[in-house]
Amino acid sequence: MTTPAVPVDTPAVPANTPAVPANMPVDPVNMPAVPGRVVATWRILLIALITIYCTLATLVVRGLIGGFGLGPVDCFVIAISTLIATLAVLPMGAVIDLPEALWQHWIPERRWRAGRCPTCGYDAHRTLCPECGTPFAAPVAYASDWHTLRRTLWIVFPSWAMGVAAGLVLMHFDERAFVSKVDSMRRSEPELREHSNTRAWPAEFATMTWTAGRGFAGLPPFESPKTDRAIDK
Ligand SMILES: [Zn+2]
Repeated sequence: MTTPAVPVDTPAVPANTPAVPANMPVDPVNMPAVPGRVVATWRILLIALITIYCTLATLVVRGLIGGFGLGPVDCFVIAISTLIATLAVLPMGAVIDLPEALWQHWIPERRWRAGRCPTCGYDAHRTLCPECGTPFAAPVAYASDWHTLRRTLWIVFPSWAMGVAAGLVLMHFDERAFVSKVDSMRRSEPELREHSNTRAWPAEFATMTWTAGRGFAGLPPFESPKTDRAIDK
C-alpha cells in the first residue's frame, strides 16, 4: 500500500478553483484501476488454496464415511460434502475482493485522510486534483456487491471441482497401494486371513482392511452400519 510520491515542484492550486462538497461521491470513472497482474495473482492464489482445501476435504470425507473404491455413490457423497464445506468460503467477500478493496477503497481512503487526491495521491489542498482531474471527495467505502458474488463463484466452483478430482485420484492411489500390498503379502504367505492399514494423511484416523472372503473395506473411525459393509474383490 504505497502512495505515489508527490511531485517535487507541486504547482500551486489556483485560488479560484471551485471547492467540492466533502460528501460528493467519487465518479466511478475516476476510480483507480487495479493492476491486472495483482488481480490475476490474487485469483490464482485463491484458486490454488481452495483447490488444496477441497483435495484435503475429499480425503478427510472419504476417511469419515468409509468405503473402498471409486463407486459412483461414494464419489457423489464426497463431492456434495466437500461442496458444502467449500460454501463456507462464500461470505469471505472482502478476501475474494482484496485487490479491489485495497486499490479502489482502502488506499483512496488513506490518501483522502492524508489530504491527497484519492485517485492518484497528488497533494492539492482538497479541491479539484490538478494531476488527474478527480474532485477531492471522500472515496466510497468498500462493500461487497453482486460482482463479489460473481467473482466468488468463478473462483470457488472450478477450485472445488479440481480439488475433488485431485482428492479422488490421491485416494485411489492410496487404496491401490493397499491392494497391491495385500496381493503381494498373500502371494508370500497364503495363510494370511486379514490385514489393515491406516489411510494416508490427512485421513490417518480411518482404516482400510482386507479380510479373507470379504475382500477390501474402508472403515470409518466410528461405528456405523457401513463399518460392516465390505466390498467384494
Ligand atoms: Zn488525482
